[in-house]
Amino acid sequence: MRQHPGRYHRDEKLIAAQGSLKLVGRPMRPGGTLIDVNGVRIGGDDLVVIAGPCAVESENQLLTIAKAVKASGASILRGGAYKPRTSPYAFQGLKEEGLRILALARQETGLPVATEVLDTRQLDLVCRYADIIQVGSRSMQNFAILEEVGKCGKTVLLKRGMSSTIEEFLLAAEYIMKGGNSRVILCERGIRTFENSTRNTLDLNAVPMLKQLTHLPVIVDPSHGTGRWWMVPWLSKAAVAVGADGLILEVHHKPHDALSDGPQSLTPDSFDQLMRDLRPIAHALGAEIAHSTLVPVG
Ligand code: PEP
Ligand code: MN
Repeated sequence: MRQHPGRYHRDEKLIAAQGSLKLVGRPMRPGGTLIDVNGVRIGGDDLVVIAGPCAVESENQLLTIAKAVKASGASILRGGAYKPRTSPYAFQGLKEEGLRILALARQETGLPVATEVLDTRQLDLVCRYADIIQVGSRSMQNFAILEEVGKCGKTVLLKRGMSSTIEEFLLAAEYIMKGGNSRVILCERGIRTFENSTRNTLDLNAVPMLKQLTHLPVIVDPSHGTGRWWMVPWLSKAAVAVGADGLILEVHHKPHDALSDGPQSLTPDSFDQLMRDLRPIAHALGAEIAHSTLVPVG
Protein backbone atom coordinates (compact mmCIF):
# COMPACT_ATOMS: atom_id res chain seq x y z
CA MET A 1 0.00 0.00 0.00
CA ARG A 2 1.29 3.42 -0.89
CA GLN A 3 2.68 5.72 1.74
CA HIS A 4 1.30 9.23 2.01
CA PRO A 5 1.27 11.65 4.93
CA GLY A 6 -2.51 11.59 5.44
CA ARG A 7 -2.43 7.84 5.87
CA TYR A 8 0.54 7.58 8.22
CA HIS A 9 -0.04 10.57 10.43
CA ARG A 10 -3.32 12.13 11.44
CA ASP A 11 -3.03 15.56 13.02
CA GLU A 12 -6.37 15.43 14.83
CA LYS A 13 -6.05 18.98 16.22
CA LEU A 14 -5.44 20.45 12.80
CA ILE A 15 -8.30 18.52 11.27
CA ALA A 16 -10.69 19.50 14.06
CA ALA A 17 -9.81 23.18 13.51
CA GLN A 18 -11.09 23.02 9.93
CA GLY A 19 -14.77 23.24 10.90
CA SER A 20 -15.94 24.77 7.63
CA LEU A 21 -14.59 21.90 5.55
CA LYS A 22 -17.81 19.95 5.93
CA LEU A 23 -17.49 17.96 2.72
CA VAL A 24 -13.83 18.11 1.70
CA GLY A 25 -12.48 17.47 5.21
CA ARG A 26 -10.54 14.24 5.75
CA PRO A 27 -13.02 12.93 8.38
CA MET A 28 -15.71 12.67 5.69
CA ARG A 29 -13.74 9.88 4.01
CA PRO A 30 -10.75 8.90 6.15
CA GLY A 31 -9.64 6.34 3.58
CA GLY A 32 -9.37 8.96 0.83
CA THR A 33 -11.28 9.49 -2.40
CA LEU A 34 -10.53 7.44 -5.47
CA ILE A 35 -11.64 9.02 -8.74
CA ASP A 36 -11.99 6.84 -11.81
CA VAL A 37 -11.64 8.67 -15.13
CA ASN A 38 -12.29 6.24 -17.99
CA GLY A 39 -10.45 3.51 -16.11
CA VAL A 40 -7.58 5.70 -14.79
CA ARG A 41 -7.77 5.79 -10.99
CA ILE A 42 -6.58 8.93 -9.21
CA GLY A 43 -6.05 9.03 -5.46
CA GLY A 44 -5.24 5.35 -4.91
CA ASP A 45 -1.98 3.45 -4.81
CA ASP A 46 -1.00 4.43 -8.32
CA LEU A 47 0.59 7.69 -9.38
CA VAL A 48 -1.14 9.37 -12.27
CA VAL A 49 0.81 11.42 -14.79
CA ILE A 50 -1.13 13.93 -16.88
CA ALA A 51 0.96 15.32 -19.74
CA GLY A 52 0.63 17.35 -22.91
CA PRO A 53 1.11 20.82 -24.29
CA CYS A 54 0.09 24.01 -22.52
CA ALA A 55 -2.16 24.81 -25.48
CA VAL A 56 -3.62 22.84 -28.35
CA GLU A 57 -2.03 24.51 -31.40
CA SER A 58 -2.89 22.18 -34.30
CA GLU A 59 -3.99 18.64 -35.02
CA ASN A 60 -0.45 17.63 -35.94
CA GLN A 61 1.04 19.22 -32.80
CA LEU A 62 -1.40 17.57 -30.40
CA LEU A 63 -1.33 14.13 -32.01
CA THR A 64 2.49 14.13 -32.09
CA ILE A 65 2.72 15.02 -28.41
CA ALA A 66 -0.18 12.77 -27.34
CA LYS A 67 1.36 9.69 -28.97
CA ALA A 68 4.77 10.46 -27.44
CA VAL A 69 3.52 10.96 -23.89
CA LYS A 70 1.36 7.86 -24.10
CA ALA A 71 4.35 5.80 -25.26
CA SER A 72 6.32 7.05 -22.24
CA GLY A 73 3.54 6.09 -19.79
CA ALA A 74 1.33 9.14 -19.30
CA SER A 75 -2.25 8.11 -18.57
CA ILE A 76 -4.14 11.37 -19.22
CA LEU A 77 -3.62 14.02 -21.92
CA ARG A 78 -3.72 17.73 -21.15
CA GLY A 79 -4.09 20.67 -23.56
CA GLY A 80 -5.72 24.08 -23.33
CA ALA A 81 -8.32 25.10 -25.88
CA TYR A 82 -9.29 28.28 -24.00
CA LYS A 83 -6.14 29.93 -22.64
CA PRO A 84 -6.04 32.49 -19.83
CA ARG A 85 -3.31 34.91 -21.05
CA THR A 86 -1.96 37.95 -19.28
CA SER A 87 -1.90 39.93 -22.52
CA PRO A 88 -5.03 40.18 -24.65
CA TYR A 89 -2.72 40.10 -27.70
CA ALA A 90 -1.23 36.69 -26.81
CA PHE A 91 -2.56 33.43 -28.33
CA GLN A 92 -5.92 32.77 -26.70
CA GLY A 93 -6.32 29.13 -27.78
CA LEU A 94 -8.13 27.43 -30.68
CA LYS A 95 -11.37 27.31 -28.67
CA GLU A 96 -13.96 24.86 -30.09
CA GLU A 97 -11.51 23.70 -32.78
CA GLY A 98 -9.07 22.88 -29.96
CA LEU A 99 -11.76 20.81 -28.20
CA ARG A 100 -12.39 18.91 -31.41
CA ILE A 101 -8.66 18.16 -31.73
CA LEU A 102 -8.55 16.97 -28.12
CA ALA A 103 -11.40 14.54 -28.83
CA LEU A 104 -9.52 13.30 -31.88
CA ALA A 105 -6.38 12.74 -29.79
CA ARG A 106 -8.44 10.76 -27.26
CA GLN A 107 -9.80 8.64 -30.09
CA GLU A 108 -6.30 8.04 -31.50
CA THR A 109 -4.56 7.28 -28.21
CA GLY A 110 -7.27 6.15 -25.78
CA LEU A 111 -6.07 8.76 -23.28
CA PRO A 112 -8.75 10.71 -21.37
CA VAL A 113 -8.38 14.47 -21.91
CA ALA A 114 -8.19 17.40 -19.50
CA THR A 115 -8.82 20.99 -20.57
CA GLU A 116 -9.57 24.32 -18.94
CA VAL A 117 -12.87 26.18 -18.76
CA LEU A 118 -12.58 29.96 -18.41
CA ASP A 119 -16.20 30.98 -18.40
CA THR A 120 -19.51 29.44 -17.35
CA ARG A 121 -20.82 30.13 -20.87
CA GLN A 122 -18.30 27.58 -22.25
CA LEU A 123 -19.05 24.86 -19.77
CA ASP A 124 -21.65 22.84 -21.69
CA LEU A 125 -19.47 22.81 -24.79
CA VAL A 126 -16.29 21.86 -22.89
CA CYS A 127 -18.19 19.11 -21.05
CA ARG A 128 -19.24 17.62 -24.39
CA TYR A 129 -15.59 17.05 -25.32
CA ALA A 130 -13.51 16.76 -22.14
CA ASP A 131 -13.14 14.03 -19.52
CA ILE A 132 -11.62 16.37 -16.93
CA ILE A 133 -12.55 20.05 -16.58
CA GLN A 134 -9.69 22.20 -15.37
CA VAL A 135 -10.47 25.25 -13.25
CA GLY A 136 -7.27 27.26 -13.51
CA SER A 137 -5.38 29.25 -10.93
CA ARG A 138 -6.93 32.54 -12.07
CA SER A 139 -10.44 31.09 -11.72
CA MET A 140 -10.04 29.32 -8.37
CA GLN A 141 -12.30 31.85 -6.71
CA ASN A 142 -14.64 32.39 -9.64
CA PHE A 143 -17.61 31.26 -7.61
CA ALA A 144 -19.93 31.11 -10.62
CA ILE A 145 -17.61 28.60 -12.29
CA LEU A 146 -17.22 26.63 -9.04
CA GLU A 147 -21.00 26.40 -8.65
CA GLU A 148 -21.53 25.35 -12.26
CA VAL A 149 -18.84 22.65 -12.28
CA GLY A 150 -20.35 21.49 -9.00
CA LYS A 151 -23.50 20.65 -10.93
CA CYS A 152 -21.85 18.86 -13.85
CA GLY A 153 -20.95 15.22 -13.60
CA LYS A 154 -17.36 15.62 -14.85
CA THR A 155 -14.18 15.27 -12.86
CA VAL A 156 -12.81 18.70 -11.94
CA LEU A 157 -9.11 19.53 -11.73
CA LEU A 158 -8.99 22.53 -9.40
CA LYS A 159 -5.72 24.46 -9.44
CA ARG A 160 -4.62 26.49 -6.45
CA GLY A 161 -4.96 30.24 -6.90
CA MET A 162 -1.53 31.82 -7.17
CA SER A 163 -2.20 33.96 -4.09
CA SER A 164 -4.50 31.61 -2.22
CA THR A 165 -4.00 30.05 1.16
CA ILE A 166 -4.57 26.34 1.63
CA GLU A 167 -7.80 27.13 3.46
CA GLU A 168 -9.09 29.25 0.57
CA PHE A 169 -8.12 26.46 -1.83
CA LEU A 170 -10.06 23.89 0.18
CA LEU A 171 -13.07 26.18 0.49
CA ALA A 172 -13.10 26.52 -3.31
CA ALA A 173 -13.23 22.71 -3.50
CA GLU A 174 -16.00 22.83 -0.89
CA TYR A 175 -18.10 24.97 -3.30
CA ILE A 176 -17.80 22.24 -5.95
CA MET A 177 -18.66 19.45 -3.56
CA LYS A 178 -21.56 21.45 -2.10
CA GLY A 179 -22.98 21.62 -5.64
CA GLY A 180 -23.08 17.80 -5.63
CA ASN A 181 -19.86 16.94 -7.45
CA SER A 182 -17.32 15.03 -5.35
CA ARG A 183 -15.05 14.26 -8.30
CA VAL A 184 -12.48 16.91 -7.43
CA ILE A 185 -8.71 16.68 -7.87
CA LEU A 186 -6.62 19.38 -6.19
CA CYS A 187 -3.51 20.72 -7.91
CA GLU A 188 -0.65 22.63 -6.28
CA ARG A 189 0.84 24.79 -9.06
CA GLY A 190 3.03 27.28 -7.23
CA ILE A 191 2.27 30.53 -5.45
CA ARG A 192 3.53 34.09 -5.81
CA THR A 193 6.22 35.04 -3.33
CA PHE A 194 9.00 37.66 -3.21
CA GLU A 195 11.22 35.18 -5.08
CA ASN A 196 11.47 36.09 -8.74
CA SER A 197 14.12 33.75 -10.12
CA THR A 198 11.37 31.25 -10.83
CA ARG A 199 7.89 31.88 -12.28
CA ASN A 200 6.24 30.75 -9.03
CA THR A 201 7.33 29.15 -5.78
CA LEU A 202 6.16 25.54 -5.81
CA ASP A 203 4.70 25.03 -2.35
CA LEU A 204 5.46 21.39 -1.68
CA ASN A 205 4.47 21.97 1.95
CA ALA A 206 0.94 22.04 0.61
CA VAL A 207 1.01 18.37 -0.35
CA PRO A 208 1.32 16.77 3.11
CA MET A 209 -0.85 19.53 4.55
CA LEU A 210 -3.62 18.87 2.03
CA LYS A 211 -3.32 15.10 2.50
CA GLN A 212 -3.91 15.73 6.23
CA LEU A 213 -6.84 18.06 5.79
CA THR A 214 -8.76 16.51 2.91
CA HIS A 215 -9.64 13.14 1.44
CA LEU A 216 -9.41 14.53 -2.11
CA PRO A 217 -6.53 13.49 -4.40
CA VAL A 218 -3.65 15.98 -4.65
CA ILE A 219 -1.45 16.39 -7.70
CA VAL A 220 1.44 18.77 -8.44
CA ASP A 221 2.24 20.95 -11.47
CA PRO A 222 6.01 21.58 -11.50
CA SER A 223 5.79 23.20 -14.97
CA HIS A 224 3.90 26.29 -13.78
CA GLY A 225 5.45 25.88 -10.33
CA THR A 226 8.93 26.65 -11.67
CA GLY A 227 8.53 28.07 -15.19
CA ARG A 228 11.84 26.36 -16.08
CA TRP A 229 11.89 23.06 -17.99
CA TRP A 230 15.22 21.97 -16.51
CA MET A 231 13.85 22.26 -12.98
CA VAL A 232 10.73 20.23 -13.75
CA PRO A 233 12.28 16.74 -13.33
CA TRP A 234 13.74 17.66 -9.93
CA LEU A 235 10.50 19.08 -8.59
CA SER A 236 8.51 16.19 -10.10
CA LYS A 237 10.61 13.71 -8.15
CA ALA A 238 10.28 15.82 -5.01
CA ALA A 239 6.49 16.00 -5.46
CA VAL A 240 6.21 12.23 -5.68
CA ALA A 241 8.49 11.80 -2.65
CA VAL A 242 6.38 14.23 -0.59
CA GLY A 243 3.20 12.23 -1.20
CA ALA A 244 1.47 13.61 -4.29
CA ASP A 245 -1.08 11.38 -6.05
CA GLY A 246 0.17 12.48 -9.44
CA LEU A 247 1.73 15.11 -11.65
CA ILE A 248 0.59 17.37 -14.45
CA LEU A 249 3.39 18.23 -16.85
CA GLU A 250 3.71 20.38 -19.95
CA VAL A 251 5.36 18.65 -22.91
CA HIS A 252 6.02 20.10 -26.37
CA HIS A 253 7.90 18.55 -29.29
CA LYS A 254 9.20 22.01 -30.31
CA PRO A 255 9.35 24.08 -27.11
CA HIS A 256 11.02 27.02 -28.90
CA ASP A 257 8.07 27.32 -31.27
CA ALA A 258 5.35 26.78 -28.64
CA LEU A 259 2.60 29.40 -28.64
CA SER A 260 2.54 29.36 -24.83
CA ASP A 261 4.76 28.17 -21.98
CA GLY A 262 7.62 26.83 -24.15
CA PRO A 263 10.30 27.69 -21.52
CA GLN A 264 8.67 25.33 -19.00
CA SER A 265 7.85 22.52 -21.43
CA LEU A 266 9.72 19.22 -21.46
CA THR A 267 10.57 17.65 -24.80
CA PRO A 268 9.19 14.14 -25.39
CA ASP A 269 12.73 12.78 -24.77
CA SER A 270 13.18 14.55 -21.44
CA PHE A 271 9.64 13.50 -20.45
CA ASP A 272 10.50 9.90 -21.27
CA GLN A 273 13.66 10.08 -19.14
CA LEU A 274 11.68 11.59 -16.27
CA MET A 275 9.12 8.76 -16.39
CA ARG A 276 11.98 6.26 -16.12
CA ASP A 277 13.46 8.15 -13.16
CA LEU A 278 10.11 8.37 -11.37
CA ARG A 279 9.50 4.62 -11.26
CA PRO A 280 12.06 3.73 -8.56
CA ILE A 281 10.88 6.68 -6.45
CA ALA A 282 7.28 5.50 -6.77
CA HIS A 283 8.34 1.96 -5.89
CA ALA A 284 10.13 3.17 -2.75
CA LEU A 285 6.76 4.53 -1.59
CA GLY A 286 4.86 1.37 -2.52
CA ALA A 287 3.36 2.95 -5.66
CA GLU A 288 3.24 2.20 -9.36
CA ILE A 289 2.78 4.68 -12.17
CA ALA A 290 -0.76 4.21 -13.50
CA HIS A 291 -1.32 3.50 -17.16
CA SER A 292 -4.40 3.97 -19.24
CA THR A 293 -6.23 0.70 -19.75
CA LEU A 294 -8.19 2.15 -22.64
CA VAL A 295 -7.32 1.19 -26.18
CA PRO A 296 -7.66 3.61 -29.07
CA VAL A 297 -11.00 3.37 -30.81
CA GLY A 298 -9.77 5.02 -34.03
C1 PEP B 1 -2.24 25.75 -17.55
O1 PEP B 1 -2.42 24.64 -16.99
O2 PEP B 1 -1.76 25.88 -18.70
C2 PEP B 1 -2.52 26.96 -16.74
C3 PEP B 1 -2.84 28.11 -17.32
O3 PEP B 1 -2.36 26.73 -15.42
P1 PEP B 1 -2.56 27.69 -14.16
O4 PEP B 1 -4.02 27.98 -14.08
O5 PEP B 1 -2.04 26.88 -13.01
O6 PEP B 1 -1.73 28.93 -14.40
MN1 MN C 1 0.59 26.53 -19.34
